Amino acid sequence: MDDFSSRHAAVEERIAAACARAGRDRADVTLVGVSKTFPPEIAAEAIRDGVRVLGENRVQEALAKAPLCPSAEWHLIGPLQKNKVRHALSLFSAIHAVDALDTLEALARVQRETGARPDVLLEVNVAEEASKHGFTAASVRGAVRAALEEGEVRLVGLMTIPPWTPDPEASRPHFRALRRLRDSLEREFSIALPQLSMGMSGDFEVAIEEGATFVRVGTALFGRRNAAAWKPERSADSDSYF
Ligand SMILES: *Cc1c(COP(=O)(O)O)cnc(C)c1O
Repeated sequence: MDDFSSRHAAVEERIAAACARAGRDRADVTLVGVSKTFPPEIAAEAIRDGVRVLGENRVQEALAKAPLCPSAEWHLIGPLQKNKVRHALSLFSAIHAVDALDTLEALARVQRETGARPDVLLEVNVAEEASKHGFTAASVRGAVRAALEEGEVRLVGLMTIPPWTPDPEASRPHFRALRRLRDSLEREFSIALPQLSMGMSGDFEVAIEEGATFVRVGTALFGRRNAAAWKPERSADSDSYF
């Protein structure tokens, strides 16, 4: 087995074990392979090896890789700037990290024009770290209300990135807080928010135990990202990337 296949098999085994511990069905957890900074050929290898969904945090980087991975489903896991919404909606079937009301408005506007209907998740800064994006547990209520008022926006859940820690157990309270927040929003607004995007290479098993439906795994699948990251060629419509 080559490197990718063996890392993928190891990640799959860990996902299956976490699902078994939590009494969850493996089919309820989607592995989002985070291919950011890796070249399109590596992303294509992941798809050939059975990864179905690729996550990128930059719109232009994903658009540049997409032609080489025709069967991939793409998720935007990084922040979405208002001026990138149109490009983003031409590719991504899910937007994990909406963190501002004006982004919701821009999404609704472009969706009305183009008919695109991506799944949308709101990013919540559960630990209320000053350095992080996202709504607070309090302000996310206003965002849910705004999304419902826009009508167009298909809100499916919440996403979080807990504070960095080498100890996966330290992430557990944050994942649990996101799940409880989701439960209370479902009750308050009488809506279903089935998706919880939480867990990365260091803590995806704990996230699955706490209810994650999307785990965003980069390093454990693709290896370490390095400074010589792959970047799309500069072109007329990618110059805003640089
Ligand atoms: C890069 C990134 C990941 C993947 O992180 P790893 O620790 O390499 O698995 C997950 N989520 C987001 C939002 C990211 O930007």
